[in-house]
Order: sequence, then C-alpha cells, then structure tokens
Amino acid sequence: MFATIQKRVELKGFTTIGIGGVASWFAEPKTVPEVKICVEFSSDKSLEVFPLGRGANTIFGDFGGLVLSMRGLRGMRVERKDGALRIEVLAGTQLHELVNLSLRENLEGFYKLAGFPATVGGAVAMNAGAFGYEVSKHLLEVEFLDWEGRLHRVKASELEFSYRSSPFPKLGIVVSAVFEIPFCQGSVREEYQAIVSKRKKTQPINMPTSGSTFKNPVGDYAGRLLEKVGMKGYKVGDVAFSEVHANFLVNLGGGTYQQVVKIIHEAKRRVYEEFGVNLEEEVKLVESGSAYGWKISGA
Ligand SMILES: Cc1cc2nc3c(=O)[nH]c(=O)nc-3n(C[C@H](O)[C@H](O)[C@H](O)COP(=O)(O)OP(=O)(O)OC[C@H]3O[C@@H](n4cnc5c(N)ncnc54)[C@H](O)[C@@H]3O)c2cc1C
Repeated sequence: MFATIQKRVELKGFTTIGIGGVASWFAEPKTVPEVKICVEFSSDKSLEVFPLGRGANTIFGDFGGLVLSMRGLRGMRVERKDGALRIEVLAGTQLHELVNLSLRENLEGFYKLAGFPATVGGAVAMNAGAFGYEVSKHLLEVEFLDWEGRLHRVKASELEFSYRSSPFPKLGIVVSAVFEIPFCQGSVREEYQAIVSKRKKTQPINMPTSGSTFKNPVGDYAGRLLEKVGMKGYKVGDVAFSEVHANFLVNLGGGTYQQVVKIIHEAKRRVYEEFGVNLEEEVKLVESGSAYGWKISGA
C-alpha cells in the first residue's frame, strides 16, 4: 500500500470551520505520481474520492471513501511575457500566494480574490470569485488526472465555468493550472486595500467559518433573504449563522455536522416558505453517499 494512505482520520482540522467526522481513508500526496497512486488505490477498492484543498467551503460528516488532501502539492513557476505574467501553479498552492504576487506585479483583477482562504485547485473547482472577478477570468489551462488516473492538459476555454461552478471534481483532480494575467496600467494597491478592509467589516473572518453557505439566487442575495427570515444569529447547538454576515455559518466551539445539516434545512425551509426561493448550497456537505459529483469511474 502507498505509505501515506492512512486509515480513520479525523477531519475537522482540515476545514476552516473546524467541524468534521472521520474519513475511512486519507492521504496527502506531494507529487502528481503520488496523486495517481491514490486514484488507482481507490479505484481498486471502489472507494469514493473527495479531493480536498484548504477546506474553506467544505464541511465533513463521516466519509467512507478517501479524502485526498491536495495541500502538499505546491509550487509555482512564473514567466514574464509581453504585457502579462504567465504563472504555472500546482493545485495545493495557497491562493493568497498568487494574490500577493499579483499585487507585487500590479496585475489585473486577481488581487480582488484577496482575503479568503483557498488552494488554487479548490478555487478553480469552485470558480471562486469576488468583487466581479472570477478565478476562471485569466485561467489559460488546467492539468488534471481523470478518475482512471490519466493525465490531461486542457485549455480553460474548452471547459465550462459559471458562477461558483466548474467541471471539477466531476471530471477529475486538478493538479495544476496556468494563468496569464495582464499587467495593469494604473496601480491596483488602493482598490486592494479597500477590498481587504471591506471584508474585515462585513465578514466574520476571525471566526471558524466555511464562507458562503448558499449561492446567491439570480438577482438577489442569499444573505438578504436569510436576514429577512430571522436566520442572522440563529443557532442550532454550537452552529450559527453569523451576526456579521447572515450567509456565513460559524462554529461557536463544539459544532457538529448534524447541527450544520439541521440549521441549513431550517434556513432553506424558511426562505422557501417566505419567498418561494429554493436556496442552493455553495458549501460542500460531504458524507458517504451524498449527492455531489466526485464519485470515481465516471459514476
Ligand atoms: C472567510 C471566508 C471567506 C470566503 N469568501 C469567499 C469569496 O469571497 N468568494 C468565494 O468564491 N469563496 C469564498 N469563500 C469560500 C472558499 O474560500 C472558496 O470556495 C475556495 O475556493 C475554496 O477553496 P478550498 O481549497 O478551500 O476548497 P475546498 O473547500 O477544499 O473544496 C471545495 C470544492 O473544490 C473541490 N476541490 C478542491 N481541490 C480540488 C482539486 N485539486 N481538484 C478538483 N477538485 C478540487 C472539492 O472537492 C470541493 O468540491 C470564503 C471562505 C471563507 C472561510
């Protein structure tokens, strides 16, 4: 067996909200061949695989498959081109390293992703975005391992990205990404600072949280609807919707997955009954047999 595949690992330390059950299998590969070994291992055992980045939009229950933490696969190569910077980056690299680089180099747009935790792979999979900018905007190529363990390099223009959505992890595990980001004419620093201070005021960034719980419905804000139905500050056990931002769940200390499921259910019920709007989860609720699309072998 691949030496670093462990059995029965507690998951709460691997998410920003600090809630989690147990993974039956867990691995933290550091190279692409190691990722491939993990995929083959799960395929042999018919295990579900959940690729995990920083766990900033993920909450775990008990998971009978393999959690594949990608944080060890890190590094980047930067190449100066005419009018732009070409950045090739491994999936486990922290997004803020790219944000810092884009600030130093005065690059267009990317600095708007300042102030939230993510790996590059997780940000690509979620098509993370803020202040009108999305990760897919200057994404040129994605390299990924499919569920049979084959490596592909595809142009981002051939992949479908939309609001907080991408073909990953359904298509496979992102192992690296290439961005080509143009240099900006004016300075980006002032806007960057405004974004950072806005985040500090409007989000519970000092609490264990998993970011936005629901996607914004078309033409509205999930936070506004949740506030209207009394969910701001609402608690189930040690899990609450933040007093600072009604769409952010926070862990008050001993939050559990069951409490998360309960509070999400209550929020959806209230919003549906009051506004007829079916809120869709942005956060990934991961437990065995749940309906997300990471099952192996194209299932
Ligand atoms: C305080 C706070 C503020 C936030 N603000 C924002 C915001 O403004 N905008 C925003 O978009 N998000 C925001 N988020 C949510 C979160 O930061 C993003 O969704 C981020 O992209 C998640 O990255 P991650 O590496 O933590 O992914 P994870 O939570 O680990 O995983 C998320 C999804 O990506 C998949 N995935 C992870 N890595 C890979 C890989 N290598 N290959 C294939 N699939 C993979 C997982 O399977 C899962 O489906 C915020 C979160 C917090 C805690």
